[in-house]
Amino acid sequence: MTTNNPEILVSIRNVVKHFDISGGWLEQIKFDNGRITRKQSIVKAVNGISFDIKKGQTVSVVGESGCGKSTLARTVMGLYPPNSGEILYQGKRIDNLSDAKLKHYRTRMQMVFQDPYASLNPRMTVGKTLREPIRFHRPELKEGQVAEKVAEVMAKVGIDPDWQDRFPHEFSGGQRQRISIARALALDPDFIVADEPIAALDVSIQAQILNLMMDLQEKSDLTYLFISHDLSVVEHISDVVAVMYLGSLCEMAPKKQLFDNPAHPYTQALLSAIPKLGHEFSHEKLKGDIPSPINLPAGCVFHTRCKYVNDRCRSEIPAQRAGDGNTIVACHAVEEKRI
Ligand code: SF4
Repeated sequence: MTTNNPEILVSIRNVVKHFDISGGWLEQIKFDNGRITRKQSIVKAVNGISFDIKKGQTVSVVGESGCGKSTLARTVMGLYPPNSGEILYQGKRIDNLSDAKLKHYRTRMQMVFQDPYASLNPRMTVGKTLREPIRFHRPELKEGQVAEKVAEVMAKVGIDPDWQDRFPHEFSGGQRQRISIARALALDPDFIVADEPIAALDVSIQAQILNLMMDLQEKSDLTYLFISHDLSVVEHISDVVAVMYLGSLCEMAPKKQLFDNPAHPYTQALLSAIPKLGHEFSHEKLKGDIPSPINLPAGCVFHTRCKYVNDRCRSEIPAQRAGDGNTIVACHAVEEKRI
């Protein structure tokens, strides 16, 4: 990874994000064999993730619920400060900037959330929702120009600009997500983080929103970081796929390579769960439950469920290594050519 590669828009460097959920000091006091001790509970949501996102690409992060993918997305967007590591935008570190300095980057980077109803203010008309960020970030624009911009982004996402005076509850779920996307586009960003943007929608509407996002990407030269738990959605929209498990990156590869030839045992197990037409269904069941992110297993976090586990896996964290053809894999068995 380099900071000055013009092809790279966003770099995530060894990012760690933990949450202290211990509560107040009274809740932390524990009695242990007659002794008073203090017990802290730390959720280790993201544990040293690194990858680059090239301009114009869709990089999807996929993994089971609780794997830390949404936390990673929010950390990239500056909604959570990382405990350590760096986020770079066009080679410039942005995770340590003051709010005033970050203002410029906030227009370049926007986010679309899972639940459009929760992310839109129910007391604000759609027109006001779209006008406010434009007025705040682009005070040089006159009212007429702001109105033009609002009508333009509404048309872009397939919402009639004449509906500006309507409130969010007057729209369907799919239309509300279109409005959320319009709000993200209002400041002409380069980079959009979409956190499960279709998970709350009816199946019949999901494809429409995905196709809209792909269409907008082509027309407006957008780069996406797309978060999803759904492999079929990821297969449809991505250029590159990153697989996360318990806050760690298992594997990252161009979509075709990852789906045709997964290297990491966890990716293999995830993909085996997708039924394919014309193939006998052979779901490779993962044994055991996902361990708690408060008590991560030593060594490889996947070792409690991996059929290729050995002693090294139980004690040594596998490093993110470059594999064949622009891939990253973190697995001792792959490195040792055991699989
Ligand atoms: Fe399995 Fe070991 Fe690879 Fe982890 S490092 S995925 S336990 S083989």
